[in-house]
Amino acid sequence: MEPFYTALSSIKVLRCSVGQVFSSLANGLRADHGEEGRETKFLLELQELLSAVTQHLRDVEQAVNSLTPPPGPFNLGNTSLLSQESAQERQQLYNQVVLSYKWTDKVHEYSNLAVALLSQNSLKRSYTNSSTAKRKKTLTSSHNVSPQAVDTVIATIDRLYPDMNVSVSRPFATNVVSQVTLGRVLQAVVAFKGLMIEWVVVKGYGESLELWTESRHKVFRKVTEHAHAAMLHFYSPTLPELAVRSFMTWFHSYINLFNGPCKRCNNHLYSALPPTWRDLRTLEPYHEECKP
Ligand SMILES: [Zn+2]
Repeated sequence: MEPFYTALSSIKVLRCSVGQVFSSLANGLRADHGEEGRETKFLLELQELLSAVTQHLRDVEQAVNSLTPPPGPFNLGNTSLLSQESAQERQQLYNQVVLSYKWTDKVHEYSNLAVALLSQNSLKRSYTNSSTAKRKKTLTSSHNVSPQAVDTVIATIDRLYPDMNVSVSRPFATNVVSQVTLGRVLQAVVAFKGLMIEWVVVKGYGESLELWTESRHKVFRKVTEHAHAAMLHFYSPTLPELAVRSFMTWFHSYINLFNGPCKRCNNHLYSALPPTWRDLRTLEPYHEECKP
């Protein structure tokens, strides 16, 4: 393999020096050739470049001579039988096989990279990457809750605040997607997996309550961002009900999104935005920039 790489890299060097000859020719006389005897200087430069080409060509020849041709035909496995194919429409199969081989190879490579990246992710919210059976059992507990239990938890939360309305729907038969209406301030869609909050998106009134599109207002996109952070903060595989209730209590504090001043700077607006952050413990409003 070693001589093969040497030959390939010497070809690269040769191509490079030929390229230099052509680029020098294409540029013609340049300012740095000076005023006096510029033609001679130009010719000398070309001569130098050409002798470099000759030298590199010799290197290539040498490298190629040291290569040994493979002893027999390459072993193509079953694909070599494709050449025996007589039906016209199947003769193109070989190219397709090669292409799909390359494709699976790439998929393999990318998935290996993805695994390496995902295994570094410390926010282990999915039960597939748990290492021991015991851990797996505790983690799955928040997903394997009966639909009735989920309904009860959400109904309790719905009764918690008169100005926060939480409704339940099951568009995919199993898991709950709930719609939260917070006074006349905002709306949100919260997707559950069992009793675990998987996704939150916050929108303004009159916006479509789709789970996978953002709000067109910056203020609600910011709140969505903070809600994602809170959802991870409150996440607890062992006490899933408490996690949901804490998140919803935190979320209810957005009721004063537009009329509560920032706890730190006492202003309503900062960079044209109201205080979009709520402290996770005290629930006090802060601008993103004023966060403690
Ligand atoms: Zn502030």
